[in-house]
Formats: sequence, structure tokens, C-alpha cells
Amino acid sequence: MYNSPVLFDKSVTIVNQFTVRNGRRKFVIIADQSGYEKAEIFTSEAAGTVPVEFLAIRGVEDGERIKRFLLSQTMGTQFYISAAWGNAVMVFKLGVEAGLSEDEIQVVIIGPKRRYVYCMKCFEVTGVAEKAESTECGHCKASLEIGPFYSIVREGYIGYPFIPAGKEEVVGS
Ligand SMILES: [Zn+2]
Repeated sequence: MYNSPVLFDKSVTIVNQFTVRNGRRKFVIIADQSGYEKAEIFTSEAAGTVPVEFLAIRGVEDGERIKRFLLSQTMGTQFYISAAWGNAVMVFKLGVEAGLSEDEIQVVIIGPKRRYVYCMKCFEVTGVAEKAESTECGHCKASLEIGPFYSIVREGYIGYPFIPAGKEEVVGS
């Protein structure tokens, strides 16, 4: 079974600064309002290398437009996404659907990244703070220790249920 790449906080595609990729024929920069400044800086850095095309987006309402734009690009294009988490996830997903590999995409996240934990007790996913080491499952309320393994299939870090100190007598099974 082939698992499509998804964007998560430790994705290889996420960078602090965009870098000029040699050997590409064109750069495409996609930015929302929050990512506009980073995009503009990189546009001037990339000037004079290869043709650069810029697409400004607002949010999910632009989904269809972004999809058409991505599908109209030719092989050898490098994609740069500069946006807040939600928009970056959307554009990344559309890019993967359009056939892009992670090697063809760089992402700069503006603001906080989001993480998700997959509960090994009820098999549901819960959002957590970026630096959290444990959390409570938003569905079954189990205390979860956030493991180091990210599941592309479950789209979350594996969360291992544990019994918090002092709660032993309350939690059954
Ligand atoms: Zn759960």
C-alpha cells in the first residue's frame, strides 16, 4: 500500500527559510496573507535564476483555484508555500494530489504548527500543543503519552494510554 505524504510538524518539507533549488526550470511561490512577506523576500532572492510565478491565496475558498493552478504547472517546477498552518496543509495536500513529491515542495509555516495524537485506546485523533509530551484524548478522555512515531496513515503521533499518578483506583480495565 502506498501512503501519500502528509504535512506534519516534523515534515522534511518544512524549512525555516526557502532555498533556491538548482536544476529546476521554474519556481512557484504560493502565499497567504501571513506568508506574503517571506514570499516577497524569497522572490527577490530568486530573481534572475529561473522564472518565478506568484499565487496569492486567502483560504479554503480558493481550493479549486489552487488545484487548477497546480495542475497547470509543468515538470521541473519547484513549489514554495509560505502560509499559516491550515492553509499550508491545504496547499500541500492539493499539491500531493496533483502528483508533486516532497522533494518538489518547501514549506515555511507562519505562526504555530499543529500536532495530532492518535489514541491507541479509541483510535481517534486529538490536536495537541506543539511541545506537549502528554495529553488527554479528546474522545475517550484517556491520558496519553505522546510517542516519537508519526503515523502517516493515522495522521498523528501514536499516543499510548497511561494511568496518571493518583488515579489508579478510579480507572478500571
Ligand atoms: Zn481515545
